[in-house]
Amino acid sequence: MAQLVRKEDALEYHAKGRPGKIEVVATKETKTQRDLALAYSPGVADPCMEIHANPEDVYKYTAKGNLVAVISNGTAVLGLGDIGPEASKPVMEGKGLLFKIYADIDVFDIELNSKSIDEFVTVVKALEPTFGGINLEDIKAPECFEIERRLKEELSIPIMHDDQHGTAIISGAALLNALQLVGKKIEDIKMVISGAGASAISCCKIYMELGARIENMYMFDTKGLIVSSRTDLDNNKRPFAKDMAQVDLGTAMQGADVFIGLSKGNIVSQDMVRSMAAKPIVFALANPTPEISYDEAIAARPDVIMATGRSDYPNQVNNVLGFPYIFRGALDVRARSINEPMKLAAVKALAALAKEPVPDIVNAAYNDSHLHFSPSYIIPKPMDPRLLVTVSTAVAKAAIESGVARKHITDWEAYETELQR
Ligand code: NAP
Ligand code: MG
Repeated sequence: MAQLVRKEDALEYHAKGRPGKIEVVATKETKTQRDLALAYSPGVADPCMEIHANPEDVYKYTAKGNLVAVISNGTAVLGLGDIGPEASKPVMEGKGLLFKIYADIDVFDIELNSKSIDEFVTVVKALEPTFGGINLEDIKAPECFEIERRLKEELSIPIMHDDQHGTAIISGAALLNALQLVGKKIEDIKMVISGAGASAISCCKIYMELGARIENMYMFDTKGLIVSSRTDLDNNKRPFAKDMAQVDLGTAMQGADVFIGLSKGNIVSQDMVRSMAAKPIVFALANPTPEISYDEAIAARPDVIMATGRSDYPNQVNNVLGFPYIFRGALDVRARSINEPMKLAAVKALAALAKEPVPDIVNAAYNDSHLHFSPSYIIPKPMDPRLLVTVSTAVAKAAIESGVARKHITDWEAYETELQR
């Protein structure tokens, strides 16, 4: 059943009390004259000079190490499109709220009035001293690819465009588990992907790292199948081009093992799902309206494993399963970047967690009594408290093992206890 949210309730929620959803809170005593002399002049000069002598001390004496910038230019906001930086601010504040409640990470949301790649990169680069990490958000393709690539090259703090990699990580975990349930090997599957934008390209890249083969991937955009005879393809799409004649989506889906939708609602029919191979996997992730609805796909054939981006159906591919904990782990070891081993560690940790017995508290939160690894539960639920320790620890360990950590954790038990405080 759809959870109805009325417009007036959403507007009232944002406007009531102090407008917006976040505020800044002091973390030290501020009661006496002495407290203030320590917090600001003259006391503040001492940490300043320590940091001046040893820049790494910025992590010791300031909030940098727990502070993430959520940065957007408002060019691809949710499914709303290019609505501009001001209009994107509720989303970025919302992302800040999620970072805080799930992983106790503080966020400054930053909305930039800039559509130029160069200007965006210059501004974000100049912000590096303030932040422990940077979550790029809701920036349209193809600009988002170059912005992230350049910033990753030039900055030495963790940076991730969540619309790309968050989606790839969560759906990658869901895909591994769905394949296990249907007994198919990722190397062998034929995949049809609708969408060739920010999320689709990044998803396919991580599926390949997990073993999927590019020659088995058929990718569609608004102009149809991506084939090598097309002259409009950019460098992001071109690697997926097939040496074959154009076919339509329905033809490509015949006999396919997996359909991934990251495009537009209502473009897949029940007949197309019926034409797929035995035990097909359908991830219809367009939001808020999936490529085919959960109910239609399940009604089309009983052997389908189905996921959507929606919270009101089983198997929600929700980025909140990833970003709070990926950044938690990255910050806690002062990682220089969020690299492929860290992303793959998050995929594996999420996939493994879905196979563990589900605690009562999670069943209760979802009004269920028997959530268990099955076609209707292939990824953990967002309100699962085990996510914090499981994913953050996996990411932190992968950062250390892959050599991007500036701080090493040795007592993992103590780390886990600290996380849960
Ligand atoms: P994007 O960068 O704008 O990419 C959209 C892609 O879809 C483009 O490649 C576009 O083609 C293609 N497309 C649009 N209409 C199509 C159609 N009728 N047939 C085939 N391809 C079509 O957007 P995005 O950030 O990747 O997001 C895409 C969708 O996935 C959105 O609905 C978003 O809400 C959803 N999404 C869901 C999740 C989740 O469930 N967790 C996560 C991320 C995104 P052109 O390249 O020709 O324009
Ligand atoms: Mg987003």
